[in-house]
Formats: sequence, structure tokens, C-alpha cells
Amino acid sequence: MSIVKKPKAISNWYLPGILSGMGFTFKKLIKNLFNPKGMPTLNYPEEHYQYGPRFKGNHVLTVKKDGSLRCTACMLCATNCPADCIKIVASEHEDPTVEKYPISYEIDMLRCVFCGYCEEACPVDAIRMGPEWQTPALNGGNFTYDIQHLAYRPNLKGGIQSRLDDEERHKAGI
Ligand code: SF4
Ligand code: SF4
Repeated sequence: MSIVKKPKAISNWYLPGILSGMGFTFKKLIKNLFNPKGMPTLNYPEEHYQYGPRFKGNHVLTVKKDGSLRCTACMLCATNCPADCIKIVASEHEDPTVEKYPISYEIDMLRCVFCGYCEEACPVDAIRMGPEWQTPALNGGNFTYDIQHLAYRPNLKGGIQSRLDDEERHKAGI
């Protein structure tokens, strides 16, 4: 059984609530003016929040030592993606030791939910989710990221090397 209390007569008036809200805002304004460092907000875009190393931001396709894509076009990431936003076109490689590689790899960032399943599904550390989270674009901007953007955008400075290369080098004792 629920008991609904009868509201007090004063709560029928908006004015006390408005004045109390304005008083609270004014108190915070004065406090922040005299102690700006204690403010729980950041002056974005001048100040950026530093997320932890496990943060899952924009995707990166890693590269081998020679700069080519590590991805073997196995489709595990696309199969695991719950948003169905990864599209891969595979092709045979001219090098007989490489079974397949992607001639096209696209992620529709407007569908992506940043769940990280693609990163977890990849058997060769070919896709990672990095610290970048800003995806600005004007109306009509391109939010379908292709190989050029995923692996070789300017702030990756030539590409991020797959950990697989380090492990292979470690096993070979180099
Ligand atoms: S983060 Fe999730 S939704 Fe986004 S591409 Fe990867 S698997 Fe798909
Ligand atoms: S990124 Fe990884 S899981 Fe996705 S197709 Fe390439 S090798 Fe396979």
C-alpha cells in the first residue's frame, strides 16, 4: 500500500523554489570565482580530460614493420561487431606467405557503439581502440573511416606497430 502525503501549502508556490535555486547558483558562482581550481569542470577545448589507458576511443589499424597492414582480413571483427558497422573486402596477396589482406576496410563511426568487441576478437592485434575520442566534422562530413584514416592518419605518425611483431621478435631472440 502506498501512502501519498498531502503536499504542504507552501509547495503550491513557485517563488520559494525559484529563490532557493537562484541562491544556490549564486553561492556556487561566488565560490568558483574565488577558487577556479576547485571547479569540477574543464575549459574545453583548451583543457582536455586525461582518460585511463584502457579507454576505448577511435580505432587504429596496426601495421607490420614494413608499414603494411597487419590485418589478415579474417572477418572476425566484422562478425563480432554488434552494430554491423565494419565492412571488409578481402583479396589474395601476391606474397604466398600471406594468405589474405584487406583491399578495403571501413568502419561507419556513426553506427559504432565503441564496445571494443572488434579489438577483442582480433587474433593478431590488427585493430585497437586508442585514446582519441574527438570525431569533429561539419554537416555532411565523412564518418566512414577507411584504411588511410584508420592506419595512416597524420597523428599516428606513420602507423602503430602490431604487438605481434614484438612477440615474434622475442621468440626469435632478436
Ligand atoms: S567498437 Fe563495437 S560497434 Fe564499434 S566497430 Fe568495434 S565491434 Fe563494432
Ligand atoms: S582487424 Fe583483426 S579480426 Fe578484423 S579482419 Fe583484420 S585480422 Fe581479422
